[in-house]
Amino acid sequence: MGLKFEIVARDAGTQARAGLLHTPHGVVETPTFMPVGTAGTVKGMTQEQLESLGVQMLLANTYHLYLRPGHEVIRELGGLHRFMGWPHPILTDSGGFQVMSLKGLGRVTEDGVWFRSHLDGSSHFLTPERAVEIQLALGADIIMTLDECVDYPASHETLQRAVKLTTRWAQRAKDFYEERVSGERGPALHSQSQRPPDLQHLTPDTSPAPGPQPPSLFGIVQGGTDKILRRESAEELLEIGFEGYAIGGLSVGEPRQETYEVAEFTAGLLPEERPRYLMGVGTPEDLMECVARGIYLFDCVMPTRNARNGCVFTSEGKLVVKNARYMRDEQPLDPACACSVCRRYSRSYLRHLFVAGEMLAGILATHHNLHFYLDTMRKIRQALEFGQFESVRSRVRGGSGTASPRREVVPESQADEPC
Ligand SMILES: [Zn+2]
Repeated sequence: MGLKFEIVARDAGTQARAGLLHTPHGVVETPTFMPVGTAGTVKGMTQEQLESLGVQMLLANTYHLYLRPGHEVIRELGGLHRFMGWPHPILTDSGGFQVMSLKGLGRVTEDGVWFRSHLDGSSHFLTPERAVEIQLALGADIIMTLDECVDYPASHETLQRAVKLTTRWAQRAKDFYEERVSGERGPALHSQSQRPPDLQHLTPDTSPAPGPQPPSLFGIVQGGTDKILRRESAEELLEIGFEGYAIGGLSVGEPRQETYEVAEFTAGLLPEERPRYLMGVGTPEDLMECVARGIYLFDCVMPTRNARNGCVFTSEGKLVVKNARYMRDEQPLDPACACSVCRRYSRSYLRHLFVAGEMLAGILATHHNLHFYLDTMRKIRQALEFGQFESVRSRVRGGSGTASPRREVVPESQADEPC
């Protein structure tokens, strides 16, 4: 295993763990939250601001970078870190989630996913091998296998089919990754003639991935809310063997309690000494609850996307700052927050910026929300170190309803305009 991960503190009463993840671009303290930098940028934030906020690792979307400016362009320019001026750890997704969520634009086959670009309608085919190939060109620290994520609710047959396909794709991704990265060519499982047509033009390519060390490949456990399928999926991926394991297919519309239950169950199937990453979840409260259930890595668009819509997270819950009630409110977004936005600007000013359509509105709200998320994670890590996890857990409050970013429920009192 090239990716060193060490656990430095354990909570006695829960599965919460603090750890250190040693990536080629630096050490990441876990549990950690990764802001989403879709197209090589966290919208509205400069890299300097992200550093000052204490961002330790970013997530970038393979789908968007593949389409624009193109992974080959980024490889030629020395990889994503250099291209975007971010010398710290980066994780890229496989592109599958975006492709499959393109309404009417994606089609899953045994070999991969056909999709049309949302930019110009051009047709593309993403295979497990191609997803690794593109991510190696981008040169992130952690890369993901292509998986099939299905919506909630889904029938047992649909979930089972997706689990089996995800396993076959994970094996293909691993074989391809080893050929390219480890040089363990051995008896390659995919000879040229067995490769899907999409792959044949890719090989041979021996150009090294950018960066000091090759990225680490993570597998993704699927299975929806079906525990038998989750177990099957986890066992099959463990058999293949990855440097870390993600839990996919959650926060797709299921009730929040089910998100927690399945995250806990699945985390319990995965080795404690390997990074466990819960994809696409959630509110600060979700993060806290899932840390308690054994998750180490998180990403979610919620703090950044909601911020741009005028919805901020505070120690008292969510607040829709563009609502009329804040027109004369001189308080900061969150009186308990120490971020530079809360120290300087009022709710009334923020509301004015949103109403006037000023670009500073989204910038300030994003800054605050990211600070709130990162500060929550910092408090969790410190609490774990000092054996105070339960007391911090009881203080964290967030929104309510489901854990899904698409189905947020704003408390009644703030619901004039939803997030
Ligand atoms: Zn703040």
